[in-house]
Amino acid sequence: MTRAFVGLGSNLGDREAAIREAASRLDAVRLSTIRETEPWGNPDQPSFLNAVAELDTGLTPIELLGRMLAVELSLGRMRDGTKWGPRTIDLDLLLYGDRQVDQDGLTVPHPHLHERLFVLEPLAELDPALEVPGKGPVSALLARLQSTP
Ligand code: ATP
Ligand code: CA
Ligand code: CA
Repeated sequence: MTRAFVGLGSNLGDREAAIREAASRLDAVRLSTIRETEPWGNPDQPSFLNAVAELDTGLTPIELLGRMLAVELSLGRMRDGTKWGPRTIDLDLLLYGDRQVDQDGLTVPHPHLHERLFVLEPLAELDPALEVPGKGPVSALLARLQSTP
């Protein structure tokens, strides 16, 4: 089994229900606090609820991503091509053990992980000593981002 972390976000419909249901459908062993955050990258949309789930998975990274995309679809996720647009649920594979993956359609650790407070804060809540392969401990990444004006 591999310990993996999945970022969850929602800014359409019953946001909290979507996050809890997605975590449950992924068989998460823990879910961080759910927090309200301003949209990232594309400000012209409703605010998000975000959280991070911890999983113990026997799936490969690609299999897990496939499962996550299926859960997104089952919870009404539509992709209309708008980058960082509104969504009922968004599931990002943040970390998969200590693996680094770079292949068609999947990059792990998630490429924007280290620049998003709404990802680093819940990750640090679950495990501040967690190492992000190639980048260092979550606590240090968080401190760096918090000190950036
Ligand atoms: P961001 O990835 O910056 O948070 P987003 O979540 O809005 O943006 P999506 O439209 O949900 O982006 O995803 C686009 C594609 O990103 C997915 O179809 C998937 O193949 C790819 N992808 C690459 N790496 C990952 C990852 N670590 N987790 C989830 N999707 C990934
Ligand atoms: Ca995302
Ligand atoms: Ca995504």
